[in-house]
Parts: sequence; structure tokens; C-alpha cells
Amino acid sequence: MLHSPWRADFPALAAFDTEHQIYLDNAATAQKPQAMLDALAAYYHGGVANVHRAGHGPAARATGAFEFSRVKVARWLNAPGPANIVFTPGATSALNLLAYGLEHEFKPGEQIVISALEHHANLLPWQRLAERRGLQLVVLPLLTNGVVDLDAARLLIGPGTRLLAISQLSNVLGVWQPLPELLAMARQHGALTVVDGAQGAVHGRNDVQAIGCDFYALSSHKVYGPDGVGVLYGKTDAWARLRHWQFGGEMVRAADYHTADFHPAPLGFEAGTPPIAGVIGLGASLDYLQSQDPNALNTHEATLHAALLNGLAARPTVRVLGQPQTALATFVVKGVHHADLATLLSEQGVAVRAGQHCAMPLFKHLGVAGAVRVSLAMYNDGADLVRFFDALDQSLAVLT
Ligand code: PLP
Repeated sequence: MLHSPWRADFPALAAFDTEHQIYLDNAATAQKPQAMLDALAAYYHGGVANVHRAGHGPAARATGAFEFSRVKVARWLNAPGPANIVFTPGATSALNLLAYGLEHEFKPGEQIVISALEHHANLLPWQRLAERRGLQLVVLPLLTNGVVDLDAARLLIGPGTRLLAISQLSNVLGVWQPLPELLAMARQHGALTVVDGAQGAVHGRNDVQAIGCDFYALSSHKVYGPDGVGVLYGKTDAWARLRHWQFGGEMVRAADYHTADFHPAPLGFEAGTPPIAGVIGLGASLDYLQSQDPNALNTHEATLHAALLNGLAARPTVRVLGQPQTALATFVVKGVHHADLATLLSEQGVAVRAGQHCAMPLFKHLGVAGAVRVSLAMYNDGADLVRFFDALDQSLAVLT
């Protein structure tokens, strides 16, 4: 039976064990390692202070810890430096920041290109921007395996394209997108490139310089960090193109009643008190992640994922959407409503997600009303899958 050597590092799993609960909804949010809980407790127990404002000792300590997290995030993403990293309340806010901050870059009739599988967070900000500026929102179609159709993309990305916003790893289909090819097409036409790394960053492909995008967004809570924190990486020249969006304390260099002058990134895009504890906690989660053997992590996740796919394939009424490559599988069962199945699984202590997974247009595109998603994390193990399949079989015996 596949064992996870990291399970004991996550205290919530022991709590779940006492409730006979298993957690397979990790693409929505992940449990937290003890190392991160310790960092949060140490910050709060040691005495808090606001960052970047006061000169007293506690403020210097909080600011130092906060800024050190920026350095850790930059290293983890292989960004050129901490000034390329802006903290936001989440990936959604990061993408909204871009859609407002870049608004002035667009002229009516120009194009923003997305794909058919985008999470609402990487669709609606661009859809609304397109409406505000009279732009065309171009949607790249998918092949049946869930990968963007590159032949179609070659025809659709053109001289009118000003921005490509694409998800790295689909939260529904579990498919890596061909970013090198897509980003090259966009660059060829001088378009900005935005990668939604909310899922991809969790599974080891978090080198932003290797990806080569202008902007990369992610959420802390999915990479085992606290919620309420997101990261927006940007190339230095790309940040310089962004106009300030939200205004308030500490993002301003000088202000008068009628005029003001603002800091560049990162501080200029972090108006108001940031999520200080959350940012410090994220730094601790990344330390924890980076202290693990990446090959062991990849092998564990791949073995577990293969077992999930094999188990689903062995059940003839189950149909998996797309051809998932990493971490998750989203499926429908012939003659069974996804909500009924999720309810029965939940009653047996199995936490999965059911519905349209914040990607309603994708479900329309696939002609499916909704589906059940099982998503894995480093702490899941073979016993979790045994419990899941047992509960699935019991549920299907009732429902079919
Ligand atoms: N993009 C993708 C692919 C996601 O899966 C999610 C969350 O599920 C998001 C963006 C939005 O993340 P958040 O809700 O943390 O802002």
C-alpha cells in the first residue's frame, strides 16, 4: 500500500482520522504543515506590528519577516528578485489587478486570447475588460484530451492579439497546457502573456523564468500556505506597464489633496495593510516544501495519480473528462447525478468536489452538466484511495 512520508507533517490529517474523514478536495484548498502553523504562532506570540510604516522594534521585526517571505517566494519561483513579487489577497485578485492595471494598454477591436478551459478567475476579469474597452475575447478550443488545439491557436493568435491569458494546469481536466508554444505565438505578435499558475505551481512547474511569461499568478492556500494571500510575479518591464489600481496607505510616495505620486512594484501594488501573518506563513510553507526531495514528491504524486486513474478506468460506468496528467481526475457516471454521488460520498466521510468547478463555460463546451472531482496532495496515500473506491462502489450500488 502506498504510504505518504509527509502525512505526519500535517496535523489536520490526524484530526480527520478521528472523524473517519478523508480529504480529496486538494485542488480547492490544501491542508497545512505544522511548520507553517508554528510560523504563524511564532509571529502572533512574538508580538505583531504593521509593516513598512513604523521605526520601532516590533515593526522592524515584522517588516523583516514579511520581506524575507518575498525573497523566499522569489527564490521558489526562480524570479530575478523580490521586486518582481507582489502579494495580493489571492490568485483571483492578482488576475483582477492585471485586468484593471493593464486596461489602458488596449484599443477597441483588439483581442485578448484565453482558452476554453479557464477557471472563472482567469475568464471573468478579461471578459469584463473586453466589455469595458470594446475588445474581442478570443477563446482557444481544446482537443479531446483537454489540451489547447495548437493548430487552431496558430490561426487565432495574430497581430490583433494584445494579451494571452492561459491556465498552466486545468483545475478540471488536470492537463498541462503547451505553454512554450502558446507563449511563443503571443510574443511573436508582441502580446503580453499571463499564466494562471494556481494549480500548476502546486505540482512542481513553478520556474517563471523557464516559463517565460510576463505575469504568473498563484494562491498561497493551494501550496499548503495560509488563505487570504496570493502572489503575482511580473517581469520588471511588464510591471512598469501596469497602472496603479488600488489606492491607500503605503503605496504612495507623496500625496497632496489633489495629486499623488506612487511607488513602483512591489509596494505600489500593495495598498493598505497586507496579510502580514499570511505572507510569513507562506514563506514557512515554501521552506517546508523546498526541504522535501522533489523527486520523491513527484514519484509519490505520479504513483497515486496513476492508481486513481486505474481505479476509475476499472469501473465501466465512469467516464473521466479529458486525459488528466497530474493530481486530479474529474468524472461523470452514466445515469448518476454528480450531486447525488458527492452527497453519498460525503456521508461516508469522503470529501470530494462536485459541480462545475468554477468553469461553467468549459462544462457547456464539454456538454456535461457537472462532474465529481477527486484531487490529490502530497499527504494522500493508498489507504485514502481504498476508502474512496470503497465509498464510490457503495454509492453506485445505491444510485444505479
Ligand atoms: N485559477 C485556477 C486554475 C484555480 O483552480 C483557482 C482556484 O480554484 C483559481 C484560479 C482562483 O484561486 P483563488 O480562489 O484562490 O483566488
